[in-house]
Amino acid sequence: MELRRQHSRAKLTHDDIVKIVGNKYGRLIVLNFKEKRVELNYPFRITYWYECRCDCGNTHVVRRDRLLKGFTRSCGCISIINNEA
Ligand SMILES: [Zn+2]
Repeated sequence: MELRRQHSRAKLTHDDIVKIVGNKYGRLIVLNFKEKRVELNYPFRITYWYECRCDCGNTHVVRRDRLLKGFTRSCGCISIINNEA
């Protein structure tokens, strides 16, 4: 029985986690690392969440990979603005 199942994404070190603090993604500036969560749908998948501040002044907690991949670029105000435009 093969129990050794490597996950493609290695666990992040503390350095990796804090490295993106201060970075800006779209309208969001990463303020600090908030928490690690284990996804219920994927029991072995750990996600990393950051508190960010949007240009509009709102704070918003965003998942790391959504920030890095550019899926989340604001607290939600960008799509609101686009709808009004
Ligand atoms: Zn905003």
